Amino acid sequence: MKVAMVIPPYRYGADPTQWITVPPQGYGGIQWVVATLMDGLLEAGCEILLLGAPGSPAQEGVTVSAAVETDEIHTAVEAFGPDIVHDHSNTAALPAGNLRPIVSTHHLNGAPERHTNGVYLSRAQRSAAGSSSAPVIRLPVNPARYHFQEEKDDYLLFLGRVSAHKGVREAAAFAHAADVPLTVAGPAWEKDYLEALLADFPHTVRYVGEVGGSARTRLIAHARAQLVLSQPWGGPFGGRWIEPGATVVSEAAVSGTPVIATDNGCLPEIVPGVGTILPAGQITPGDAKQVLASLPAAQAVRETAVDRWGHHTVARQYLAVYNRAVSGEAWT
Ligand code: UDP
Repeated sequence: MKVAMVIPPYRYGADPTQWITVPPQGYGGIQWVVATLMDGLLEAGCEILLLGAPGSPAQEGVTVSAAVETDEIHTAVEAFGPDIVHDHSNTAALPAGNLRPIVSTHHLNGAPERHTNGVYLSRAQRSAAGSSSAPVIRLPVNPARYHFQEEKDDYLLFLGRVSAHKGVREAAAFAHAADVPLTVAGPAWEKDYLEALLADFPHTVRYVGEVGGSARTRLIAHARAQLVLSQPWGGPFGGRWIEPGATVVSEAAVSGTPVIATDNGCLPEIVPGVGTILPAGQITPGDAKQVLASLPAAQAVRETAVDRWGHHTVARQYLAVYNRAVSGEAWT
């Protein structure tokens, strides 16, 4: 099958002469999802045109388009002649014209621009978008792209954007209560939030900035647990923040690192089996130590991740959805 994969083109913060590639140089949830899905689709024999990520590394079976403007994207898609257009840009990168058939994965909060043939990352995200029957397909992970580490070092990890809705402050409070250091990795666009975090938890938090490559996979694999204490407020688009899919959960789990999460959005749907959902309310030192002591073992966490979210499994689920759209089916 010929697939045109459309993602929103974003400049790379650390070097704005570059676009964020697939896979990304550092932070990049959508770019990791697409890289991993492409791994599965290529192994299933698909041919892919990648749009919205100029400069991405060449791979057999993939044409990386230089197009970033919507009219250029339109021309590139038409020239490729795909069986299916798979949009990850909430239509932002797509021309208004009739590119058909199309499937759109919604990566954000709220209702998508295009309701027809949507795919959601969680039931929570789907229901907030006003749909009850569109497919839910979880975010994929490719075990070959991660280290597995059974023996852990003595730190907890927060990986992601250093923002209120991602619960970095709550992660620091948990780590402080557990008396275990917290490594915080990720871009900090809200400087005041980072400064307050470092001032309030000087002996607990170690901020290492945005990470990529093997520094990222090593950090994930060696952590005792990854903290995903997402909060239902303070999100980037205003309103309530519903954690849509949480790429970091499957990445941690496949590395044998259990996850400690809140019950926000997708998290109660995906974390049981690879970690634990924290009870609401104030965490005492006793609770925090108890949570750490009762996490699932590394090997079990990895096996569950591969079983649920392995790239072959998720690519098969997408191929089934592509076939529905190709055969003329439409859903909302
Ligand atoms: N990430 C990274 N380097 C960093 C911080 C984050 O590579 O310094 C990656 C992380 O591994 C994950 C993605 O960025 O793949 C964040 O995706 P997630 O879905 O967790 O968060 P969101 O897209 O909502 O910000």
